Amino acid sequence: MEKIKTKKISCPVCKKKTAWEGNPWRPFCSERCKTIDLASWASGEYRIAGEKVKEEDEESSEAATNAGDETEENSGEMGKNGY
Ligand SMILES: [Zn+2]
Repeated sequence: MEKIKTKKISCPVCKKKTAWEGNPWRPFCSERCKTIDLASWASGEYRIAGEKVKEEDEESSEAATNAGDETEENSGEMGKNGY
């Protein structure tokens, strides 16, 4: 039989094993890691959100151009096959 005295978790920031119970900073190992995670998450989200919108806009316009090229290529191949 296994006796689990304290549930251990891995800190998402430093991957250090830390106790879940009695840990005010869970799921982090310390206040420091909690602050680091919240800060990086917030700044990362802002950055990703800003870049994502831009990238998606560029990608969608590029995809539309590519789709047009593909259609032309396909019709060209169809013509070859028709020969
Ligand atoms: Zn940590």
